[in-house]
Amino acid sequence: MINGSDPLDLASLVVAHDEANAFEAVVPPIVQTSLFTFSSYDEMVSSYRGEIVRPIYTRGLNPTVRHFEEMLARLEGGEDALGFASGMAAISSTVLSFVEPGDRIVAVRHVYPDAFRLFGTLMKRMRIEVTYVDGRDEEEVARALPGAKLFYMESPTSWVMEAHDVGALAALAKRHGIITVIDNSWASPVFQRPLTLGVDLVLHSASKYLGGHSDVVAGIVTGSKVLIDRIRAEAYPYLGGKLSPFDAWLLIRGLRTLPIRMKAHEASALTIAQRLQDLDVVEKVCHPALANRLPPGLTGSSGLFSFIFREGIDVRAFADHLKLFKLGVSWGGHESLIVPGEVVLQQKAQPNSAHAFGIDTRSVRLHIGLEGTEALWSDLEAALAVATRA
Ligand SMILES: *Cc1c(COP(=O)(O)O)cnc(C)c1O
Repeated sequence: MINGSDPLDLASLVVAHDEANAFEAVVPPIVQTSLFTFSSYDEMVSSYRGEIVRPIYTRGLNPTVRHFEEMLARLEGGEDALGFASGMAAISSTVLSFVEPGDRIVAVRHVYPDAFRLFGTLMKRMRIEVTYVDGRDEEEVARALPGAKLFYMESPTSWVMEAHDVGALAALAKRHGIITVIDNSWASPVFQRPLTLGVDLVLHSASKYLGGHSDVVAGIVTGSKVLIDRIRAEAYPYLGGKLSPFDAWLLIRGLRTLPIRMKAHEASALTIAQRLQDLDVVEKVCHPALANRLPPGLTGSSGLFSFIFREGIDVRAFADHLKLFKLGVSWGGHESLIVPGEVVLQQKAQPNSAHAFGIDTRSVRLHIGLEGTEALWSDLEAALAVATRA
């Protein structure tokens, strides 16, 4: 494992591109092409034999996608990375590369709902069993691990924000020779670099903070060359959830401002979370930096947290009277968002349960965007006044 550069060192993110062939453009070009041609029979046959590595077809290798993969690998401290068409493509391809029928996965509870549904539908049909554990309880995790093939983590989780000691959990899994995977979308490499904590594979929904502008759906996984090669060998080309060159280009643009954006999300969200905690109408704020000290390895907090209203607050009126906060899923962009828990709990997708995601009916999840703390607070106060009166 190479040591990644300091994630705040933006200079290290300038991965060389072939400027001479791109008019010395400062931004790498979008190589928007499905196929790449060969100048001769010999060149083509060398490429097919694997004697030279060069793009043949964009489902396998594309320079713009490669550029993004190299940037993200550097940020996380990985040797290699693979981009995908969505976070779910990264999750499904990664997990399916390491399990077969009869295997068992241990996963922390409250994983991203569609990951939970993947485990409970397609993978269940493939006779892959998933045991859920409370990632904060190391004894429970240690009891569940023996005999498992894969340990799937997400920390903090993305509704109740349960934060785990990622390094300690990875060490437990390592003792049993179990491959560890973590969904690091919430923290981003700016606040948590799980490869440096002993985790084997780190994946992201790049649709969130990595992209940062709510204009792309993408995913990525990074880790050692050996493990990434295993994903590249089967799941990547044959499931075919490849990242498009244009989306990769948007992600390259997003990564350039990642550290600055994360600091701004952190500051605004912390202030708002603290003020909410002081309100009588709020029962509990679920924000890892408020609950207690951040666990080792998590060096900051992002813009996503939730809180639970006391009984008697009209959540519908609250949501409908917000002006800056838009009702909407996803997060990680410039805009502030709200999702009421009682809405999510009515989602038709199966399997679905409050228990599985830890969502309380009186909870509300906020993503604090970049509009400015005081403007956002005024918006929340005005809507609260209506929701309390109602
Ligand atoms: C959104 C999200 C995903 C899924 O990513 P897509 O890009 O939407 O497929 C996975 N994990 C977490 C924590 C997410 O928020």
